[in-house]
Amino acid sequence: SVPGEERELTDGFHLIIDALKLNGLNTIYGVPGIPITDFGRMAQAEGIRVISFRHEQHAGYAAGIAGFLTKKPGICLTVSAPGFLNGLTALANATTNCFPMILISGSSEREIVDLQQGDYEEMDQLAIAKPLCKAAFRVLHAEDIGIGVARAIRAAVSGRPGGVYLDLPAKLFPQVMEAEAGRKSLVKVIDPAPAQIPAPSAIERALDVLRGAKRPLIILGKGAAYAQADEEIRAFVEKSGAPFLQMSMAKGLLPDVHPQSAGAARSTVLKNSDVVMLIGARLNWLLSHGKGKAWGEPGSKQFIQIDIEPKEMDSNVEIAAPLVGDIGSCVSALLEGLGDNWPMPPGDWIDAVETKKQENITKMALRLKKNSTPMDFHGALGALRTVVKERPDAILVNEGANTLDLARGIIDMYQPRKRLDVGTWGVMGVGMGSAIAAAVETGKPVLAVEGDSAFGFCGMEVETICRYNLPVCIVIFNNNGIYRGTDVNSTGGADAATTVFVKDARYDRMMEAFGGAGANVTTPDELYRAVSEAMDSGRPTLVNAVIDPAAGTESGRIGNLNPQSVVGKK
Ligand code: ADP
Ligand code: MG
Repeated sequence: SVPGEERELTDGFHLIIDALKLNGLNTIYGVPGIPITDFGRMAQAEGIRVISFRHEQHAGYAAGIAGFLTKKPGICLTVSAPGFLNGLTALANATTNCFPMILISGSSEREIVDLQQGDYEEMDQLAIAKPLCKAAFRVLHAEDIGIGVARAIRAAVSGRPGGVYLDLPAKLFPQVMEAEAGRKSLVKVIDPAPAQIPAPSAIERALDVLRGAKRPLIILGKGAAYAQADEEIRAFVEKSGAPFLQMSMAKGLLPDVHPQSAGAARSTVLKNSDVVMLIGARLNWLLSHGKGKAWGEPGSKQFIQIDIEPKEMDSNVEIAAPLVGDIGSCVSALLEGLGDNWPMPPGDWIDAVETKKQENITKMALRLKKNSTPMDFHGALGALRTVVKERPDAILVNEGANTLDLARGIIDMYQPRKRLDVGTWGVMGVGMGSAIAAAVETGKPVLAVEGDSAFGFCGMEVETICRYNLPVCIVIFNNNGIYRGTDVNSTGGADAATTVFVKDARYDRMMEAFGGAGANVTTPDELYRAVSEAMDSGRPTLVNAVIDPAAGTESGRIGNLNPQSVVGKK
């Protein structure tokens, strides 16, 4: 080189940051530590929003939800071995839920790990991540960072979205290269999630099956919410005239109060429909695998299924009309195929659904008005239902057992992607990560309705919420335990029963410890006032809602999944 002429240099740290920014990935959810502490600092200095959590699992859940909300991979950043493993739970969860996410973990020296010589936090992370996510990559050389990040993005968002692991050994970060060559090595991913156009013959087949329906039903799943084809979906459902059900995270895609919503007549429509069109919903356990008692007479139904993943077809039952493609493209093509004089479904079907619906709505209304102390779930949820109705653009996060099952049915949603919950696994502990991501990604007020048990898995993140001053109001449905707070130790011994917590705990004081607002409420009216105030103030708030310890049922609506001892209780 010419003496006196300074060659501009870059390094691994900056190349990773530049690669993320080049692809519009401007937020990182993580926990700092060796070997990524400086990386986090530099990322923040370079304009990336870095949200530091107290535990990687919640940073990971946040990244997954960021992916669901934005269609861009959410980024989670962790340290090696234990931090990586904590994040891996969330990566597996994102993959299961079809949320695009990239877990980036620092790792220790390949040479030592591969010879198993006992490095600091030694672990073959790439091998461990591989079976739990969609794809896993490792970058060893600074000049491969651009390609590595591009591959991770494309793998996460194309086809069926999911989690990707990106392994970055400590030695990669300080590797130096010429800045100009570094710039050229970066890749801006063009069309990362290409449209997948359905075959015209598959569209015809689907329309034929739908045309023959006497009792059609449309089921919208969170894939439909993810697809952001809101207008097309609404137009298609309305033009078809069919009753629809929305899976929990699809709620609000069409307002739950829409005249065609069959949410309040769920069992009736599942049982009695003859043609069921699934849009971005899987026939997994959440839909009783498409068979059994819930679905009426065996062989009484034909399924039409729209999914981007061909292998989803016939996974549980025969699909009469598989429609493989992205939901936007499929639904647009179907909409066109409906034409201008698509017949409405037979009146007796619509009337039967409507009658059942009104019957159930009337029954429920009485329970929601109950203003008793201590509160039961219905009384408390009746108050929160009003809070959400008055703020349709707020985001509702929801987890727990009874708290989840009952809130899902009671709290109406009015807009797409406003309800975030336990997803495909029914996992507890996603609440705070989801709430943080929702606030960070959308800037909207967030209401997190949490069972006291569910909250226990992620409660320390209230500090994170206070630290970033996020507009999150947490309501703890505090019934003193898991499912119920009334169990006793059958031995009569001093240990508490296995499913109960400290009685009359004051979770609101946890929030106050970090400078947030706390409230303790015992009636639906108090609950309504405290939550309304919190939602309007935007101040981090935790409302401890005292619920009757005897009010819950074991495992909420999925008690049937508990194995029973044949020997019986001794
Ligand atoms: P729910 O639990 O709400 O029923 P699931 O997670 O079971 O929803 O199903 C979502 C489905 O949506 C998955 O099978 C996934 O492959 C599919 N999916 C996700 N995104 C798209 C998309 N853009 N186009 C088509 N299908 C999609
Ligand atoms: Mg509880």
